[in-house]
Amino acid sequence: MSCRIADLPVPPRCRELIRTGALVAINHSGGKDSQAMTVLLSRIVPRDRLVAVHAPLGEVEWPGTVEHIEATLPSGVPLIFAPVASGKTLLERVEERGMWPSSKARWCTSDFKAGPIQRELRRYLKAHPRFGGRLVNAMGMRAEESPARARKAPWRRNERMSVAGREVFDWLPVFDLSTEDIFRVIRDAGQSPHWAYAAGMSRLSCSFCILASRADLRRAAQLRPDLYRAYEELERRIGHTLSPSRIPLPELTGVSPAAVRCDDPTGLDRA
Ligand code: SF4
Repeated sequence: MSCRIADLPVPPRCRELIRTGALVAINHSGGKDSQAMTVLLSRIVPRDRLVAVHAPLGEVEWPGTVEHIEATLPSGVPLIFAPVASGKTLLERVEERGMWPSSKARWCTSDFKAGPIQRELRRYLKAHPRFGGRLVNAMGMRAEESPARARKAPWRRNERMSVAGREVFDWLPVFDLSTEDIFRVIRDAGQSPHWAYAAGMSRLSCSFCILASRADLRRAAQLRPDLYRAYEELERRIGHTLSPSRIPLPELTGVSPAAVRCDDPTGLDRA
């Protein structure tokens, strides 16, 4: 198992791009997969050719996410932020649309993460001509996460971004690693994952994600009661549920929004 980690498969074209000075961007959500990917990439890419990019989601992301990224990023690797251009929050957009995103219409990811990150990486490349417009865009998706993810290509040319003098490739460096591998990489690097994992969450993502398991939604409700109440009130106001099962949050989690008390082990959510 550790052999698989040590031998992180690097496609030949990717190896050549790294060797000849292309920029390698780490898409960093603050989650365990991004963190392990950062550890592994910083071993094979010179730090002056790495950049980490995070799309901040404000109140809906776990408290301490940005601080966690900053604390675990290797020194010398810049961190840039990719906020949504409209300045609107995810919950404001849900209210405007009158519905939550779904696995088929995941505008939350495209509008709040992928789009802003691509915009910032285009700007970064333009501001740093030494990379010659060449970019390896590394993301922490893994095959084990879902059948849809397992069908993704771990290396592919990004045709949409490869215009106007740019050559961009999307790379999934930890695609073949298991959850156990991921935690081992983090542990062996002398780091800890974000506190929400130890508090019982299986994924970081948004605190309340459209794709979350019932167990994660329940635990998130206990950890972030104020935000839970905001989600539940929004569900009632727009008459549409966060969960694609169309079961309202209180029924799905078994947690009463009126009765839940803060169980945040960090105290961050009460600041
Ligand atoms: S974590 Fe879930 S809710 Fe948040 S942007 Fe991603 S898919 Fe959407």
